[in-house]
Amino acid sequence: MTKGNINVSVENIFPLIKKFLYSDHEIFLRELISNATDATLKLKHITSIGEAKVDYGNPKIEVKIDKDGKKLHIIDQGIGMTAEEVEKYINEVAFSGAEEFLDKYKEAGKDTGIIGHFGLGFYSAFMVAEKVEIITKSYKEEPAAHWTCDGSPEFSLEESDKTDRGTEIILHIAEDSTEFLEEGRIRELLMKYNKFMPIPIKFGTKEINDPDFTPKTTKDKDGKETTEPHKKITVDNIINNPNPAWTKQPADLTDEDYKSFYRELYPMQFEEPLFHIHLNVDYPFNLTGILYFPKMTNDLNLQKDKIQLYQNQVFVTDNVEGIVPEFLTMLRGVIDSPDIPLNVSRSYLQADGNVKKISSYITRKVADKLKSLFNNNREDFEKKWNDIKIVIEYGMLSEEKFFEKADAFALYPSVDGKYYTYDELYNKIKANQTDKDDKLVILYASNKDEQHSYIEAAKAKGYEVLLLDSPIVSHLMQKLESSKENISFARVDADHIDNLIKKEDTSISKLSEDEKTKLDELLKDIVPTEKFTVQLEAMDSDAAPFLITQPEFMRRMKE
Ligand code: ADP
Ligand code: MG
Repeated sequence: MTKGNINVSVENIFPLIKKFLYSDHEIFLRELISNATDATLKLKHITSIGEAKVDYGNPKIEVKIDKDGKKLHIIDQGIGMTAEEVEKYINEVAFSGAEEFLDKYKEAGKDTGIIGHFGLGFYSAFMVAEKVEIITKSYKEEPAAHWTCDGSPEFSLEESDKTDRGTEIILHIAEDSTEFLEEGRIRELLMKYNKFMPIPIKFGTKEINDPDFTPKTTKDKDGKETTEPHKKITVDNIINNPNPAWTKQPADLTDEDYKSFYRELYPMQFEEPLFHIHLNVDYPFNLTGILYFPKMTNDLNLQKDKIQLYQNQVFVTDNVEGIVPEFLTMLRGVIDSPDIPLNVSRSYLQADGNVKKISSYITRKVADKLKSLFNNNREDFEKKWNDIKIVIEYGMLSEEKFFEKADAFALYPSVDGKYYTYDELYNKIKANQTDKDDKLVILYASNKDEQHSYIEAAKAKGYEVLLLDSPIVSHLMQKLESSKENISFARVDADHIDNLIKKEDTSISKLSEDEKTKLDELLKDIVPTEKFTVQLEAMDSDAAPFLITQPEFMRRMKE
């Protein structure tokens, strides 16, 4: 047995780790399972290239609670370590990683969001354990090693009689961390961080019906049927899906596969997604993932289930702000990329070249998908418009690139339920508005019931009236007015549309002169003339005897 001192410049690093990471203690499990996964995948690699002459088999990772012994075990069947490697990788490498972490942490100041994202690695075990043991046997022909450390810079290293290949980490859970001896708490963490990790993770066992057993049904002499009970067998309780949909090729997945993956991601969501977008790129950065368009409500705050960010199938965060353009944070799904730096602050993230590229790649993919949905099945796209418009309109306002692309598929619905693209709308109005030569006026209503008579009047003159009622559409109109030539939007009850929908002078009045004077008097008293314009018999239709309008700019000012 050897004893030694871990070479650190910080006198005692453990209290520091504990203090700094107080709120993120739970990440220790993610880190240890990540290491177990790495060790297993390394073994897979070296056996596949013939470097290790051992049988890879069907390795799994086991997490085991020993409540009485106050211990938590994480056991893998991976590559293992020799005593020499423990010295090197645990005492030196892992420790320098921990030191580096503390430096970075101090650099990043108080930017709290980052802490849990940083891979502190093996030493995060000391956030919850007062003593940590490593019992490990390498795939190489060498005796197993047993390393023990109680949180001081001292460690001991001795031989062990472990015979099977792999590593067992034993955490002696500290008094203040006994929550990590609760089955429910550990299951919660496994579901949060490890649900899609690539190696099967066993947590306990479960009983299932024996698939090789068919219960017999027998009839007694009265003809009554009885079926014998199903035979149960005990199997490993595997908590993860090692092959989640996003790691597969789109060609190998059906629509149903995508939907069932959505249910796997969001078990509490009963509404089906409208459509999905499979992301897959390996140059100039690496990124896979699946994004889903859920049914949107106008209430942007309602969004609870968010896009999840993974790194090599390990959950990192569901805060993708800065990585995904803001308007797309309303979507759901997963993004998996090893190229997103996680150990830095948000402001750094926004300036990072790779992250910028990732963000614009995602924007482009989403726009392309929307375009192909529109081209391939316009009818279906129109049906979904109401549920997706909020994302698209928001995107058009906030991302110039998306605005340009969205021209091909953004829809403008009419009060009669027709849908136009911008070009279609423009051509239609142009053909109609021969009485206006300076600017094309696009009429719209924001409320079909309240503006009913105005709508009828405009329609009677053959004008198209749009129904634009989403909360951000007035901003979008401004954007269109400034980027398209010679158009302006006017609500059907705005006053500068007079000459569009005013009754022709030649028509015969239905009101007598006396009635007109009385009506005039009456309206003058109740309608503030500095804000509104009153016109008697302004419309072709019989819908109303007079029309009250307001300048478009005044109305927009109020909004
Ligand atoms: P990182 O995983 O980023 O390398 P860690 O601190 O998590 O840093 O681990 C340090 C090193 O210890 C690993 O690189 C690996 O060589 C070794 N190690 C940790 N856990 C295991 C394990 N379960 N099996 C084999 N080697 C391991
Ligand atoms: Mg690690």
